[in-house]
Amino acid sequence: MELIELRNIYKTYHLGEIDVPVLKGVSAKVASGELLALMGVSGSGKSTLMNILGCLDHPSSGEYWLDGQEVGHLSPNERALVRNHKLGFVFQNFNLLARTSALDNVVMPLSYTNENISGRESRQRGKAILELVGLGDRMHHAPAQLSGGQQQRVALARALINRPAILFADEPTGNLDSHTSQEVLELFQRLNREEHLTIILVTHDPGVAQHAQRIIHIRDGVIDDTTAAPDGAHGISPTPQDSTAAPPRAGAGGTP
Ligand code: ADP
Ligand code: MG
Repeated sequence: MELIELRNIYKTYHLGEIDVPVLKGVSAKVASGELLALMGVSGSGKSTLMNILGCLDHPSSGEYWLDGQEVGHLSPNERALVRNHKLGFVFQNFNLLARTSALDNVVMPLSYTNENISGRESRQRGKAILELVGLGDRMHHAPAQLSGGQQQRVALARALINRPAILFADEPTGNLDSHTSQEVLELFQRLNREEHLTIILVTHDPGVAQHAQRIIHIRDGVIDDTTAAPDGAHGISPTPQDSTAAPPRAGAGGTP
């Protein structure tokens, strides 16, 4: 089943009397378990689209189906609930609390959910996720005592603490040097492969986008859904745009 389906999404901003049309009929599907890059030049509407996909904003018209629910017409409070339950975010600026340890940064979102989680359990969950991102030995360091790549990994751990279905990353390596970028992108690939995390990576940088298994280009307010990553080096199965792929075999395991 598709995790995401956009149907004819339009977004127009209104500046006084002036209409600024940005998205002009975007339709796309994303399957669960994909690592997808959303690419386009500056000003092409990537962040506008990511804000809609991330339930941070609503479309002017069109439908957004997320995990079987139409979420394009929810109220701001309802969108916040969807975000808390299903979505995680990392941004170019890591947005960590400066005087707070890595562990306390990571467990912070747990205090905003209405799940009743004890302090002990939240620390255990935080430690496990910090270990998952390779920072088990840095839990009590403050952000200033960590490198940029380590800070982004803390931000990633924080984004994952609520076990989201989808991780959105808007230019996540924009503040990192190329070696560190590579490490962070490899970590995304590993989480996608081993934890089956669906990741949508927003970037203007082709070198970043090539770490995805599929690239969606946004151009003139619509999606040009043609380019796939050339190397299938990550052992990832064909994606929905691969219309030449054979249909799934019946009885090959998994759900019918
Ligand atoms: P990208 O992330 O690809 O650089 P954006 O989605 O940020 O692009 O912006 C796309 C276009 O929409 C730009 O022309 C920008 O000026 C315009 N835009 C973005 N946000 C707003 C807003 N809140 N009000 C008016 N115009 C906006
Ligand atoms: Mg942007």
